[in-house]
Amino acid sequence: MPNLASLLADTAARHPDRPAVVLDDRVLGYAELDGLAARTAGLLHAAGVRAGDRVALIAPNVPQMPIAYYGALRAGAVVVPLNPLLTPRELAHHFRDAEVTAVVVWEAMAEAARAALADLGLEVPVLELGAGTGQQLAAADPLPGIVERAADDMAVLLYTSGTTGRPKGAMLTHDNLLGNAAMVVDLFRITEQDVFFGGLPFFHVFGQTVALNAVVAAGAAVTLLPRFAPRTVLEILARDGVTVFAGVPSMYVALLEALGERAASFPALRAAISGGAALPVEVLRRFEEAFGTRLLEGYGLSETSPVVCFNRFEGPRRPGSIGTAVPGADLRVLDDRGRELPRGEVGELAVAGRYVMAGYWRNPEATEAAIRHGWFRTGDLARVDEDGLHYIVDRKKDMVLRGGYNVYPREVEEVLYEHPAVAEVAVVGVPDEAQGQEVAAFVVLTAEAAADGERLVPELRSWVRERLASYKRPRLYRIVGSLPKGPTGKILKREVERLA
Ligand code: AMP
Repeated sequence: MPNLASLLADTAARHPDRPAVVLDDRVLGYAELDGLAARTAGLLHAAGVRAGDRVALIAPNVPQMPIAYYGALRAGAVVVPLNPLLTPRELAHHFRDAEVTAVVVWEAMAEAARAALADLGLEVPVLELGAGTGQQLAAADPLPGIVERAADDMAVLLYTSGTTGRPKGAMLTHDNLLGNAAMVVDLFRITEQDVFFGGLPFFHVFGQTVALNAVVAAGAAVTLLPRFAPRTVLEILARDGVTVFAGVPSMYVALLEALGERAASFPALRAAISGGAALPVEVLRRFEEAFGTRLLEGYGLSETSPVVCFNRFEGPRRPGSIGTAVPGADLRVLDDRGRELPRGEVGELAVAGRYVMAGYWRNPEATEAAIRHGWFRTGDLARVDEDGLHYIVDRKKDMVLRGGYNVYPREVEEVLYEHPAVAEVAVVGVPDEAQGQEVAAFVVLTAEAAADGERLVPELRSWVRERLASYKRPRLYRIVGSLPKGPTGKILKREVERLA
């Protein structure tokens, strides 16, 4: 039976000595990584973990993270990856909801994890990861083989980022994740010669599938960066000869800022991949120009393992488009009554096929609301053009209703990004007595323009006035130092609204 852990075991058998994971000057080869995963499985098994048990995994992108991830899978467990920044209270919520039977945690977060367990009165084994993990594992017996699981058994219980309300656990099966990883390998033609940038957190679906599972499936290497810092990224790109950069739009914005007027020289870099949020057209253009590489945008969600739509190296490319459906995913644009809309019209994007989750963990109502007749409703508004290229118009929940008109913040953001003084921008709706909602823009200026501050607002207003209809124009502008972001670097619109 296919098991997500077999990705690593198979590659280790094929390329035992090739580098798998790099952190600074430490390199773990595939055989070593697989051996350590087998020993972790041994420890977890000895601690009582059995097939189907949920094991929380709380760690930044350090080599111990993939060791524990594939180790828990080897032991037959369901991995519950959690953000290391969560507070004890938040951890307790996840521990209770997932009914975890063991916790694997990076040493810096161990205290928080123990506090959460104490709070719940839950006594489960805690495996601490840290500088001593190597020694601890050297003394452990490896678990022979991989505990068998069915293709449609859950492999990962992934709590969605929570930018759209209370976090829910998406049940991703071995088949969901294996299928998506294999497809990503083909899509980007990943080979064992590739070196991926591993700055997207592995506890989030984008990093997990693209920068971990697909990398391991292809026998490529990933160079880790536990905390994103744009200047360090530029050093890593050069030092490790990174060939593929995978990031969210805010990372591209930060890299452009860090590069400034300098010329980029990363001859090994053959592609950059963006997903997780809308990539402003202006950022795409500036990045391709400065870094001299293609930047391909795609789209996906935690609930779809995640990749379902992407631009390709070949074929038509249009700015702002997320490309076409990937093999194994079916996409449709639906009206409010669930009927497919003709090309060109805006409706809710729905996804069917191999990558759609089994459902939300212990939440049949949410599952029924989200998946109807096999079609998962994404909550995103989209349209398809005459060539079959897809465009995300905006999130349904982010749409602003101003005086009876629909305003899609993304459209306004695109216009502001074109202004040379704008580094980053978030447009949201704020309550307004007369209009119901008003459009508000929160703008981060580029380093060169920062000194001008609020004095630039009239210029931004006239820039927008020349380009957008009056009902779409922000009435409120705020110049801010930074925007609130989630763990993957996504701008948190609900928190931006609170800044108003
Ligand atoms: P998550 O489950 O945390 O990965 O979040 C998925 C959400 O991210 C989607 O529902 C979209 O709202 C957003 N998203 C992902 N990729 C894109 C993209 N290329 N353009 C616009 N929004 C995106």
